[in-house]
Amino acid sequence: MTERALTTRWSAFAANPALRSTLADAAFGLAYLLAFLVVDYLTFAQPVVRYGVTPLNLQTGLTLALLIHRGPRLAPFAAVATFASERLVRGNPSEFADLLLLATWLACCYALLAFVLRRFPHDRYLSSMRAAVRLIAGIIVGGFATALGYATYLVECSVIDAGTISATAERYWIGDINGMLLTPLLLAAPQWREAWARARERVGEVAAQLRALALTLPLFAGITGIEQVRFLYPLFVPIIWVAVRWGAAGSLLAIFMIQLSLVAQVQDSQLPMRFIDLQFLMLTLGITGLMLGAAVAERAGALVELATRESELRALLAVAPDAVLTADADGQLRSANNVARDLFRLPQREDPRDVTSRRLDALLPGIVLRGSEGRATFAGRRDDGSTFPAEVAWVRLEAPAPVGTLAIVRAATVRRLAETQAREREELVARAMRFAGAGELASALAHELNQPITALVSYLRASQILSGPAAAAEPRLGDTLSKASREANRAAEVLIRLRDFYQGGSGKAAPVSLPALLGGVVESIDERLRQAGIDVVTRIPTDLPMVSTDATRLELVLNNLLSNAIDALVDCPPGQRRVEIFGEFTADAVSLTVEDAGQGIPPEGLPLLFEAFNTTKPDGMGLGLTSSRSLVRAQGGDLSYRRGPRLGGAAFTVTLPRQPPRAASA
Ligand code: ADP
Repeated sequence: MTERALTTRWSAFAANPALRSTLADAAFGLAYLLAFLVVDYLTFAQPVVRYGVTPLNLQTGLTLALLIHRGPRLAPFAAVATFASERLVRGNPSEFADLLLLATWLACCYALLAFVLRRFPHDRYLSSMRAAVRLIAGIIVGGFATALGYATYLVECSVIDAGTISATAERYWIGDINGMLLTPLLLAAPQWREAWARARERVGEVAAQLRALALTLPLFAGITGIEQVRFLYPLFVPIIWVAVRWGAAGSLLAIFMIQLSLVAQVQDSQLPMRFIDLQFLMLTLGITGLMLGAAVAERAGALVELATRESELRALLAVAPDAVLTADADGQLRSANNVARDLFRLPQREDPRDVTSRRLDALLPGIVLRGSEGRATFAGRRDDGSTFPAEVAWVRLEAPAPVGTLAIVRAATVRRLAETQAREREELVARAMRFAGAGELASALAHELNQPITALVSYLRASQILSGPAAAAEPRLGDTLSKASREANRAAEVLIRLRDFYQGGSGKAAPVSLPALLGGVVESIDERLRQAGIDVVTRIPTDLPMVSTDATRLELVLNNLLSNAIDALVDCPPGQRRVEIFGEFTADAVSLTVEDAGQGIPPEGLPLLFEAFNTTKPDGMGLGLTSSRSLVRAQGGDLSYRRGPRLGGAAFTVTLPRQPPRAASA
């Protein structure tokens, strides 16, 4: 087979997850087998009647770790390992079938235990008390089953007396439990490198702990009988020290080291007391170390979690746009964020005066401290005694936090202001869009109407010329034609101005005499005024100065104001339909006010009065006032409204800059 074909086959194989998993199972299984035999060989000490009932069975830790990690399906490897070790290490001469039965029984017990423990896949035995307890309980029960099986097998094979079955089982049990207690260490293998790095960072501490452990070891040699076991209690000190500093992994590792040293001593036959009694002590140490270590790790995890939550909470309170206050069960303030300190004018954080001297129900009179939760608007009381409308939501803080109240406060005015501003912004955008649309429309209309109106002007002029003799005979014809011609001209100019306006032009400023201009405007709407039965009174001081403006634009503005006044007077009783126009002037401005005797503008209409498309008329466009104001402002003046001082209706005042004296005399 070529190299290329081999590579292709290998890629196909590597891409198959099922095959990969089988291969990994086999690799784990074989490594386990090897390790099992080596460990069993090294720790085979003080057996009962030669066979496997030794007080330390470290290899059971390997078996359980394998079956938990890879799954109970690898139980056959456990059976093979037991079988091989009985034959090769322990020299068990039993019948093949008996040994096979024993190996199968033991493998099944471990597989069942692994199966049960794997039902809690998130258990971290080294860092969770609950998981550690579950593992310990499993190990005790599982160890009991294997021990009983093994002892029964020995009785059945007539290796031991039926009378010693319980003592044998106990030995085996303790040995198994001690071995299985190492399972969490093996399962944590992926973290060994990280733990090693941490140990190197704290090498001084590790050295001190190793020395403490080493100091305890000679204790074993000095003990001659069970009554002296109490001298071994100091062993708890280094184990607890290691557990507190390094968690369960550290304490299990320390116990593992003691175990190894004991096995070494047993094999040199230096131990003056029964190994099994020591192993019982080891078991107690192991369980203590695992549980204490797990509890320490759990506490450390909880502290980190707590610190994270606290920093999140602090950040939340710092950026919260609302005031947040907490109080204890009596209502005494416990904390206030910066917004709360500002809102209630409380001492700032750096201020030595503490907020805890205040009461929540003093800041928010009316709040129900013992109620579970609520929402209401109170008169919030600031530290300086002033009050403000406060929208408050509060909840009761339940145990395990010290019982108290948390309140979130917002100044009602702030919220309303924000809402109003948001609404105004929306309206402004909408209006701007419509205004832009109107600009387009006006510009298009001006363009389209320009030609016909120019033609109209020409035709009217031609008609005036052609009707010369006839007009002389009939003066009303000449008069009408000249009025028509004047209006057509005005329409043409209006169109041009309108287009200029929407395109941003400011027109041509020139000295303008207001009485003359006003006279023209009133005359142009004379017909409408008469029909509506409206009296127009003009009060213009004779010395009213000239203004500097674009006459056509100002005409448009006055025309608008007068039209509005006419509309406003329709509902008035006929005798009261009056419009007054009066002029005033100051050192640098001249103003013209158009006042009517109508209803005026109601207060709610004022904010939008000069806004585009604001109209109360069925056929109105709502562009008159807004474009008038724009036209006047473009000339450096202004258009304002007030309640009429003389007639009580609407009074619109156009203010324009005075024509400079030099230009006026020019
Ligand atoms: P339109 O006349 O098309 O409605 P305007 O911008 O000229 O547009 O006027 C806007 C609104 O202002 C009118 O609809 C009317 O409600 C009010 N208004 C303007 N002038 C007067 C006035 N002299 N008296 C009472 N209300 C007026």
